[in-house]
Amino acid sequence: MGEVLQSIRERMVKFYASDDNAITLNAVQGHFATSSSHINYYIDVTSLKVRAKEAREVARALKNKLLHHVTTVDTIVCMDGTEVIGAYLAEELEKGHFANNNKHETVYIVAPEVNSVNQLLFRENIRPSIEGKNVLLLLATMTTGDTVRRSVECIEYYGGNMVGVAPLFGTMERIGHTEAFPLFTTNDLPGYQTFTPHECPYCKKGIPIEAMVNGFGFSKL
Ligand SMILES: [Zn+2]
Repeated sequence: MGEVLQSIRERMVKFYASDDNAITLNAVQGHFATSSSHINYYIDVTSLKVRAKEAREVARALKNKLLHHVTTVDTIVCMDGTEVIGAYLAEELEKGHFANNNKHETVYIVAPEVNSVNQLLFRENIRPSIEGKNVLLLLATMTTGDTVRRSVECIEYYGGNMVGVAPLFGTMERIGHTEAFPLFTTNDLPGYQTFTPHECPYCKKGIPIEAMVNGFGFSKL
C-alpha cells in the first residue's frame, strides 16, 4: 500500500452517532474525490458492514429511525455491499411494527447489478422482487445524492414503490419525494463539506487529492 493510503488509515478517527453511542463511524479529514464531488472527509463504514455484531446494531438503529415513518417494507435493495446489514434489518422489520405484502411473508433482500453509469439493473428473475413492491433503499454513503437519485429512478422504472432511503451516512433528508433516514448525518461530523470539483477550495490551493472514494471504500486515483 502506498504512503498516502497508509496515512489515510493512520489518521482515521472514531465518531459516535449523536443519538446512539453503541455505533461508531470511522472518518478521516483530508481532500477526497467522489464520482461527482470533492469532500473534506473520507467516511469509512467498513466495520459497520463486515462485522456481524456492528451490522446487527446498525440494523436495530435503522429500524428505530424507520419506525412511525415507514409502515410497509416488502423489499430492501442493498447497495455498496450492505447486504449483511440488509439481512439483519429484514429480521428487525419482521419482528413487528412493519407490514409486508409478500406472498412468502418475508422481506426480500436484493443486491442489484450496477452498470458503468451507475444505473441499477434488475434481471428477469429479480424483477418480481421490485415490481409493485414497497422498496427501501439501503446504502453506505450519500453525499451529493446524484447516485441515489439515479438508483431511485431505476427502482421506480422497474415498478417499485419507494418507501425510503436509508444511508449509513447521509447529507440530505429527502431525495425527490422519497424520505431519507440516515444513521449518521453531517451533525455527527463537524465541518463536513462537499464541493463541486471546480469550486473545491483544496484544489484551488493546489492540495492534491488523496484518494477516490465511494460507498465501497477508497482507492488510489
Ligand atoms: Zn478538490
